[in-house]
Amino acid sequence: MFSRILIANRGEIALRIIRAARELGVETVCVYSDADKDGPWLEQADKTVCIGPGPAADSYLRIDRIIAAAETTHADAIHPGYGFLAENAHFAEVCQDCQISFIGPSPEAMGLLGDKVSCRAMAKEAGTPIFPGSPGEIEEEDEAISVAETIGYPVIVKAAAGGGGRGMRIVRDQSELIAALESARQEAQAAFGNGAVYIEKFLEYARHVEVQCLGDQHGNAIHLYNRDCTSQRRHQKLIEEGPAPGVPDALRDEVCESAAKLIRSAKYCGAATCEFLMDRDNNFYMLEVNTRIQVEHPVTEMITGVDLVKEMIRCSAGEPLSIKQSDVQLNGHAIECRVNAEDPDRGFMPQPGNVELFNAPGGFGVRVDSHVRSGYRVPPNYDSMIAKLIVHGSDRTEAIARMRSAIEEFQIGPIKTTLPLHHHLLGTREFVEHDFDIHYVERLLEKEEQASA
Ligand code: ADP
Repeated sequence: MFSRILIANRGEIALRIIRAARELGVETVCVYSDADKDGPWLEQADKTVCIGPGPAADSYLRIDRIIAAAETTHADAIHPGYGFLAENAHFAEVCQDCQISFIGPSPEAMGLLGDKVSCRAMAKEAGTPIFPGSPGEIEEEDEAISVAETIGYPVIVKAAAGGGGRGMRIVRDQSELIAALESARQEAQAAFGNGAVYIEKFLEYARHVEVQCLGDQHGNAIHLYNRDCTSQRRHQKLIEEGPAPGVPDALRDEVCESAAKLIRSAKYCGAATCEFLMDRDNNFYMLEVNTRIQVEHPVTEMITGVDLVKEMIRCSAGEPLSIKQSDVQLNGHAIECRVNAEDPDRGFMPQPGNVELFNAPGGFGVRVDSHVRSGYRVPPNYDSMIAKLIVHGSDRTEAIARMRSAIEEFQIGPIKTTLPLHHHLLGTREFVEHDFDIHYVERLLEKEEQASA
């Protein structure tokens, strides 16, 4: 096992990793920016190192400073958390070159699964369902036209190196195709330094269902069932739950097993998530693989009892997975709400500033993952998520009721948060009957705005 882990992240995920490391008897080093110098999570670390000013480009994204901090504090591993450098294969490679373990996949596995074109090819090989589309990168206009004709419009042009929704164009008929191809290429080139694009079928109606996987360095890979993250706004997940409701057990197991097979074929170490869209007829199509721990990982921890962060750390230290596929048992239902410092009544405007009151709920089946406490100042530099509220219930109905009650108990002020929106969404017919798709939140908000105007 490692003796000291450096955490190249901040906020709730830094705290989550500290907790896991401590249980394993491993010391932690937290790097931080000037904007985070009073971050409450830093008090829980064994050592802290300032790596620069507030803007992430000058601190949390500075590979040189993070490596220097790891070397001077004699850390033998780095956990990247999510965001920042978590899916940067170059960073994983630099860690390797400096003989510091990167807690996550090898640069090769990350590169193979992170590139959407090579990931699609590997998924096809493993029997993981993918969207109908181009077999590889689209280079010729003629090929684009014939692929789109074969799969049928609407189609979507996507960047091989895509992330954050950039380099994507929905195309509804042939007259728009060539221009979309060109502009997607340019956007991808500018954003990722890689202009490769491909084409796949575009779904008008879709639910987001993803599969949590774990792999080790001994060729083992397992899945920990699925999560539904259909409640989104502008492609940002708001509410996640598991297991995904309304997916027949046999189909769920088949898709989950195919995801584990893909992870195994990539010789993957650590936590990975295979994201899928599901259509009205329960057909699954893989979107992408996230090669890191995800924000919504507690949902899976609550329904399987497996500590994903501890498993990641153990596997990167060379230990085999502590569980086999047959040990993973589903228990009840879990829901997570992302509590963001944003004002839903004012276009989700970020609400940096002082949190005078932070009074988290508790009780049976309630978990709060947060770095915030009363008196904390939310800096304007980073993501607006200030807490994750997770509940577990014996079934979905109980979990929804428990979540609504926990939200009623949760006091945060004077800054505005997304808590009231969550309370509202959990009470809608669409959510309760899981009769929803990835655009239902936006449609609902639009309808309500019009009604109040
Ligand atoms: P990125 O890595 O840039 O986030 P994704 O492939 O994950 O790109 O897609 C982002 C979002 O775009 C998805 O969550 C979904 O809402 C939408 N999307 C992507 N591909 C499709 C598709 N084939 N059909 C319908 N919606 C899609």
